[in-house]
Amino acid sequence: MDYDIAIIGGGPAGIASAIACPRDLNVVLLEKNSSLGKKLLLTGGGRCNITNNKPLKKLLNSYDAKNFLKHSFYTFTNEDLYSLFDFDFIQEDDNRIFPESERSVDVLNGLIEHLDNVEIKYNYEVTKIDAGFIINDEIKAQKIIIATGGATYPQTGCSIENYSLINEPKTKIKYGLAPLITKEDLSKIAGITLKNVECIYKKTKIKGDVLISHVGLTGPGIINLSNEISKDMDYDILDSESDITCEIAIDLVPNFSREELKNKFNKDFQKKGKTFIKNYLKQFLTNNFIEFFLKRIDISADTQLSRIDKKSKNRLIETLKRLNFDIADFNRQLAKITIGGVDLNNINPKTMESKITPNLYFAGEILDLDGPTGGYNLKIAFSTGFLAGKSASEH
Ligand SMILES: Cc1cc2nc3c(=O)[nH]c(=O)nc-3n(C[C@H](O)[C@H](O)[C@H](O)COP(=O)(O)OP(=O)(O)OC[C@H]3O[C@@H](n4cnc5c(N)ncnc54)[C@H](O)[C@@H]3O)c2cc1C
Repeated sequence: MDYDIAIIGGGPAGIASAIACPRDLNVVLLEKNSSLGKKLLLTGGGRCNITNNKPLKKLLNSYDAKNFLKHSFYTFTNEDLYSLFDFDFIQEDDNRIFPESERSVDVLNGLIEHLDNVEIKYNYEVTKIDAGFIINDEIKAQKIIIATGGATYPQTGCSIENYSLINEPKTKIKYGLAPLITKEDLSKIAGITLKNVECIYKKTKIKGDVLISHVGLTGPGIINLSNEISKDMDYDILDSESDITCEIAIDLVPNFSREELKNKFNKDFQKKGKTFIKNYLKQFLTNNFIEFFLKRIDISADTQLSRIDKKSKNRLIETLKRLNFDIADFNRQLAKITIGGVDLNNINPKTMESKITPNLYFAGEILDLDGPTGGYNLKIAFSTGFLAGKSASEH
C-alpha cells in the first residue's frame, strides 16, 4: 500500500495534520485505538478546554518554546480552529475556551467531519518504521507525520515506546501538569479548596486554587507548579528509580505582606483580645482548614488572641505566608502531559519537518513542547498538527 502521507496517531495533532492535507493527496491516518481522540474526550473534565483566547503575543509568552511555536500559531490561529465547527464557543476565566455544549465529544465529532479526504486505519499500532518509510513492513509513504502523543496517560493510547519508533534526538521525558503526593497524610482534610493562594517552589510563585486530595495536593496552582518542579529536576520517566522528592510552600494570604500582617495582628490582637484564634482566622482561611492549620503551628483553636505571645504570633504570620509541604512524588498516573520529547533543535519550526530526516514531520505532544493548564496544550497540538500537515502536503 502506497501513500503520499502517513500520519501516525489520531489525537488532536494527528487529526489537525489530516485536516490540513488537500483532497488530491493519498493520505492515511493510523490509530492504534478503535477510535480517534481518546484523550481529547477526557480534556477539561469532559468539557474540552479547546484553546486559550489570550491575544497571540501574550499567548506565545506563556510557553518556554515561544519562538519555536510562533510560526505554527500564526499559521493556524484560534479563528481557524473555531471555523472548523458549526457551533459556538464560550469563554471562561483566564481566557479558557470551551464548546458551548460543554461536551468534548462534540469537538471530536466536529473534527472527524473534516476527515472524509483521509483513509483511517483503526486498531493499527505502528511498531516499526524502516528505511524508505516502510511502516510495519506493509505501508509505504512518501512522507510521515508522527503525532503519537506523549508518555503519560497510557490508557488513552500514549506510550513511552513511541519515542523509540524513530531515531531522532530527544530531551528527557518527564511528568507534566501532575498532582503532587505529600509525605503528610492529608486525607482528613481532603476535599478542601484553598482559593486564590500562591504556590511556591524555590523562586517560582504561581497563583491559583489548590485542592486537597486524599493523597496530596492538586488544583490549577499545584498542577502548573508541577511543570516548574519537573523542569527543574534532573530525571527521566524511563528511570523508575528517579527521586522526585522536594519541598513546596503555599502562601495562604498572597494579598498581604508579612509587614501588613504584623501591623494588622498587632492592632487586632489588642482590640479583640477575647476573640478565639479559630474565629479570627476565618477572614483568611476557609473554615474547615483552620483546625489543620492551627495544629501545624501548635496553637490550640480555643486560644484567645490576648493569650498569643509574640513568638506564636510570628509563627502564625510565617505559616500563613509559607505553609510548607514535603512532596514525595508526582501523582504519576494523573500527569496530564509529558514534558520533554523530540528535541526542537532538530525540527524546522516553519514546517515541523525534521532537520535530520527529510520528509519526516512531528506534531503535538511527542515534541519537547508543553504549556500550563488552560487550553495551552491542545493549542500546541492543533497548531503544530495543522502546520505539519500543510507543510508535508506542500513541500
Ligand atoms: C485528563 C486530561 C485532561 C486534559 N485537559 C486538557 C484541556 O482541557 N486543555 C488542553 O489544552 N489540554 C488538555 N490536556 C492535554 C491534551 O489532551 C494533550 O496535550 C493533547 O491531547 C495532545 O495531543 P496529541 O495529538 O499530541 O496526543 P494524543 O492526544 O495523546 O494523541 C496521540 C494518539 O496517537 C495514538 N498512538 C500512539 N502511539 C501510536 C502508535 N504507535 N501507532 C498508532 N497510533 C498511536 C494514540 O492512541 C492517540 O490516539 C489534558 C490531558 C489529560 C490527560
